[in-house]
Amino acid sequence: MKKFKRIAIANRGEVAVRIIRACEEMGIETVLLHSEVDIKSRAYRLATKTICIGPAETAKSYLNIQANIEGALAGGAEAVHPGFGFLSENAEFAEACENAGLVFIGPSAKTIRLLGDKVHCKELAKRAGLPLIPGYEGEAQDLSSLVAEVEAIGLPVIVKAAAGGGGRGMKLIRDLKEARNLIESAQREALSAFGSPKVFLEKYLERAKHIEFQIFGDSTGQVKHFYDRECSVQRRHQKIIEEATSPSLTEELRRRMGEAAIAIAQLGNYRGAGTVEFLLQDGDFYLLEVNTRLQVEHPVTELVMGVDLVKAQILTAQGEYVFRSQQVRIPQGHSIECRIYAENPYLGGVPSTGLLGKVFWPEGPGRRYEFGFEEGDEITPFYDPMIAKVIVWDETRQRTIQKMIRVLKDSLVFGVHTNIPYLIEILGHPQFVNGTMTTRFIETNFAEPIIAPILSEIDKEIIKKAIQQSHGARLASGRSSEATSPWQTYWRGV
Ligand code: ADP
Repeated sequence: MKKFKRIAIANRGEVAVRIIRACEEMGIETVLLHSEVDIKSRAYRLATKTICIGPAETAKSYLNIQANIEGALAGGAEAVHPGFGFLSENAEFAEACENAGLVFIGPSAKTIRLLGDKVHCKELAKRAGLPLIPGYEGEAQDLSSLVAEVEAIGLPVIVKAAAGGGGRGMKLIRDLKEARNLIESAQREALSAFGSPKVFLEKYLERAKHIEFQIFGDSTGQVKHFYDRECSVQRRHQKIIEEATSPSLTEELRRRMGEAAIAIAQLGNYRGAGTVEFLLQDGDFYLLEVNTRLQVEHPVTELVMGVDLVKAQILTAQGEYVFRSQQVRIPQGHSIECRIYAENPYLGGVPSTGLLGKVFWPEGPGRRYEFGFEEGDEITPFYDPMIAKVIVWDETRQRTIQKMIRVLKDSLVFGVHTNIPYLIEILGHPQFVNGTMTTRFIETNFAEPIIAPILSEIDKEIIKKAIQQSHGARLASGRSSEATSPWQTYWRGV
């Protein structure tokens, strides 16, 4: 296969920047396929070429297959990188790319259908004898049958959308009397969010940890794993802090889970980057799902394994990425990633939108910042509120936690609120420090909004200066009419 001269990016924000950086280093041009509102973003400024594919509404732009294909072709791209989220796990999109003569950077449409669909994946895993969470993933979708299945599984039971993802559309049944209502509402949500009302059931594991393996299939069909990540720190089933490797695995468990991850990937003839997710409880592990794409938290794996997963994806799509048999990779040190969300931690995490003021990410050894927005850019209410990721590496887990806390304390974001103060509290919690946190850690320990700090006179003075400068940026960007109240502006405090 020939080398790509130009790749289209069907995504936005920090992952679009991540892909642009990999392409730049490889001498490949980029075409950013963006929505109308994303012209004030870093990816827009960094891409070789930009093509507007539609309005802010995702269904008309980032989720619109035809618009993305037309944009990629008009931009002269030979391949499409879908990033994560949006169309990245959409088999129809992968197929549409191939039909249009574009290389989809990811596994084949067939693999996505086999493994990316939660129900198909479970059927495949069951046949291969892999451990699954007890549940029901049958065809019968009427309420009486589903309630009977809930009873048979035994409470608590979680209802999930078959076509779901991103932690949405899940309902937890703890009381049989509520089963009907919860199933019905899960079906309604599934239909509106994913276009299909189909649901399936799983026993809810109360003390589980979320452990996942980074898998990779090279151009010749060899599949390996690049070890594990732990993502147990979640809020409403969405990850906030991830780390590599997991502090919870014995060598024996790591070996068995790694083998299971490779086995399921091989069944799907995996090519490129993917993730096999498991829940681990009381020493037993269960397959949760396979994500047939790059994962938000891929940088922690990159730091401990010494790999560049995005370049590896591109090289695989070019037919050039081949594992050398004598090469043994083992993880070095420890890495943690924190997702920075534009939200107000003092109001329980309500989204915080507006124009971004001064931003400062403190440089130093073993730190990496992935961000899609800079001073003067707009954080809009249309998309996921994640504005950046902070990733650190150090030799031990304890020192990595220490480093992350210092880095977050030294980071500055003006203009919008962020969850940085919340993250700092989580990182200092004894259960996180000793690595015993489960997926219910946040729900149990951080149910209440955190308390706002009392700022010193010096802090207030610094904030005032920075706000004045941010207002300068706002004026320069021609949006003075939208100046927000200074009280809305947050500075983390020390
Ligand atoms: P999504 O694809 O929407 O992210 P997943 O099936 O991957 O959904 O689950 C996301 C998270 O929800 C898991 O990491 C876990 O915290 C929780 N979860 C899902 N299924 C179960 C279960 N059967 N028992 C306990 N927790 C679960």
